[in-house]
Amino acid sequence: MAIQDRYNEDDFDGFVQELIDRDMLDPKQTGIAKYFLDHGYDALSSKQQFVFDQAIATYTIDECKRCGMDIPWCEMMEAYDNGGYCNYCQHMMEKIEKE
Ligand SMILES: [Zn+2]
Repeated sequence: MAIQDRYNEDDFDGFVQELIDRDMLDPKQTGIAKYFLDHGYDALSSKQQFVFDQAIATYTIDECKRCGMDIPWCEMMEAYDNGGYCNYCQHMMEKIEKE
């Protein structure tokens, strides 16, 4: 699935907002990301879309390393931080570690 197809999914805007809030994008990417939030992907020029796609791809985990599930955007930041696992697997692994 092309990454652009997922920009319409729930919580994608929240993910972009979090990238901005956490200062994870460079100034140029941040400007484009803010413009995206206000005006949508189609309002970006093709050059801006290219920069935006690259920025998003940097922080996107395609699927969970353990169960292979697509990571929803609302879990993406966490998956990026924990090395590529969905919430469920992250939780299961923590449980296994404790036992
Ligand atoms: Zn998983």
